[in-house]
Amino acid sequence: MNAGRSLKDSLAAQIAADGPISLAAYMAACLHARGKGYYSSGGGIGRDFITAPEISQIFGELIGLWLVQAWRDLGAPERFSLVEIGPGRGALMRDLVRVGRAAAGFAEAAQIVLVEPAQAMRTLQRSALNTLKINHIDDLNALPDGPALIVANEFLDCLPARSFVRGTDGVWRERVVGLGDSGELAFGLTDAANVEDTDAANGEHRVSKGVAELEIQVGIGSLLRQLSGHFANFPSRALFIDYGLADSPPGDTLRAFRAGRQTHPLEAPGEDDLTVDVDFARLTQLAAREGLDVHGPAEQGAFLMALGAQARLDALIRANPEQAQALYEGVRRLVDPADMGSRFKVVALSSPGLPDPPGF
Ligand code: SAH
Repeated sequence: MNAGRSLKDSLAAQIAADGPISLAAYMAACLHARGKGYYSSGGGIGRDFITAPEISQIFGELIGLWLVQAWRDLGAPERFSLVEIGPGRGALMRDLVRVGRAAAGFAEAAQIVLVEPAQAMRTLQRSALNTLKINHIDDLNALPDGPALIVANEFLDCLPARSFVRGTDGVWRERVVGLGDSGELAFGLTDAANVEDTDAANGEHRVSKGVAELEIQVGIGSLLRQLSGHFANFPSRALFIDYGLADSPPGDTLRAFRAGRQTHPLEAPGEDDLTVDVDFARLTQLAAREGLDVHGPAEQGAFLMALGAQARLDALIRANPEQAQALYEGVRRLVDPADMGSRFKVVALSSPGLPDPPGF
């Protein structure tokens, strides 16, 4: 790719030469293209979306308590990897470590590992967490041996998805990004795509008669294989929080955001955040098939309330009465089913045989 060219122009040139690309390839380029992707260039973080730990410190604190319990359930190992995948601007790790310090032995045992491929994001994280000793890795293949406690909030939704449409003729076609009449990026459909094959390749069979649109996040399978490989060797537990449906596969959920406003996904590749809903039913099915113990999906609101959101809120308000309204409003956004409380789901994956985690 020509370094001076915009990502939009390079993608158009590539498509003109080689033909249309899958939505997954488009999404991967938009998020990760060297120096020009949304995350790899680091531009939009903090401008285009706000995440739960940035809305309320209580989110990270409750997850910190959950992790302390998970550590005890592993037998309180003297050394373990405290892993966050996709740490964004570091708010979650900052808050959970603060709470973890109150539990004797936890913070001393924790070796913090951040899974983050984007250099620009690593720089942000280093400065946000400058009081902590952190170690960055590119992906879970580089996870150090030993027990691991893993957390990931709003990471799964940025895993690229392929997208399929079944027409009235009953034929599945793959949605692709090609070029329109005047050479602009445009959605198109392949002649025919065998979704059953795609599914079979992913080891699953979730195409039901009623579904006319289907997204498949291709990276979920390998993520779960990486986890199950590690979790079979070392007692470990992971917590994933993200938005998506618990019981039916997502249709056409690809969305783009800029400055909190929804934009067209083809408008500004690399400049706007791209995201899809997570298929939690598929995730939990594949996880179980990989031999992982599965808890959830639970709704975020119910999960946080079960972990003691109300008591934590009351305590914070007592200590900071002048901030009562803001503290309340932050927690309300996270737990209210009309806000993030039910759209966001929580799943815990564990090595077999550990005690049940709290919150489910
Ligand atoms: N967890 C953060 C925000 C998440 S934003 C919070 O709760 O505030 C998504 C994060 O995932 C970014 O840090 C992004 O760089 C990272 N990311 C995107 N794709 C990734 C991948 N394949 N592996 C690891 N991290 C990824």
